[in-house]
Amino acid sequence: FRKKKVSIEQLLKDLLQGNKTALGKGITLIESNQLSHQKQAEQLVEGALPYSQKSIRIGITGVPGVGKSTFIESFGSYLISEGKKVAVLAVDPSSSVSHGSILGDKTRMENLVKESNAFIRPSPSGDSLGGVARKTRESIILCEAAGFDVILIETVGVGQSETTVHSMTDFFLLLKLAGAGDELQGIKRGIVEMADAIVINKADGDNQKPARDAKLEFNRALQLYPAKESEWKPEVKLCSALYNEGIPEVWKMISEYREKTAQNGYFEHNRHQQNKFWLHQTINDHLKNRFYNDPKIKSALEEQLQLIEENKTTAFAAAKYLLSLD
Ligand code: GDP
Repeated sequence: FRKKKVSIEQLLKDLLQGNKTALGKGITLIESNQLSHQKQAEQLVEGALPYSQKSIRIGITGVPGVGKSTFIESFGSYLISEGKKVAVLAVDPSSSVSHGSILGDKTRMENLVKESNAFIRPSPSGDSLGGVARKTRESIILCEAAGFDVILIETVGVGQSETTVHSMTDFFLLLKLAGAGDELQGIKRGIVEMADAIVINKADGDNQKPARDAKLEFNRALQLYPAKESEWKPEVKLCSALYNEGIPEVWKMISEYREKTAQNGYFEHNRHQQNKFWLHQTINDHLKNRFYNDPKIKSALEEQLQLIEENKTTAFAAAKYLLSLD
């Protein structure tokens, strides 16, 4: 026990000095499903928490092919040239199904990965979005404690993953393409509603005119959405991630957002709200896991399922009985 404790202390110390190997090891502990690792991870995250305040967390979403990784590559490189330290994480609940993450893949960000001030980590795998989300949230804390001051969290819109990323970020950026209708882009209304900015990518070559048209269209559409609690009016920007155009403008906008929401108190308020949300979320996950992993419940559940098959009980009666065993 004592030996373990010392090693976690050392890991935390290294991590606080910005050591990326230590950061990687810490995240591996967070991602592990082994009980002993989870205990160590808990200790590490707790130790890191007081050091993780000064960052900005940016969620980035968009359909496959819109240019997320190209955008992160050029945006991240720009931020590094501005003296920032950039961490890229991903939330991809499908990665456990496809055995290997497609998001945050290092090979997709060739230049960024070479930067000493960049840290790129693919999505943790997990059997549920909740599990993936918890791991990513805790990883954010470790990245921040290691001195990364811009955290980019990428997601592709699988199920509820945008909502999940929205609930752990300060600024939510939606990447879009010009010239494709909403149905084509598979964008749900709720996602536009969550966005603090819509960035129309690939605004280059022949695509410049359609991109400008799309900007007008989105600006018009955004008028129809209710004002945000942050008092921030979502903006529409054009960029070409491939040719590095419009990238500084995106950062300028996010900096303005940060300034505005720091002044009106929303930035802090939002993080508190998120922490409260995650408190409930964690309790729910915990209760659920405890319930379903209880051997007594497991066998009783089998029995009740059988009784339902034989029409000998109802779902409600069975649930009530099983809950009474807890
Ligand atoms: P992701 O699936 O959203 O991560 O998209 P990728 O970043 O992998 O980009 C998909 C394709 O679009 C790649 O072939 C990129 O080279 C291309 N692409 C990305 N950004 C731009 C851009 O700004 N302009 C142009 N013309 N192509 C781009």
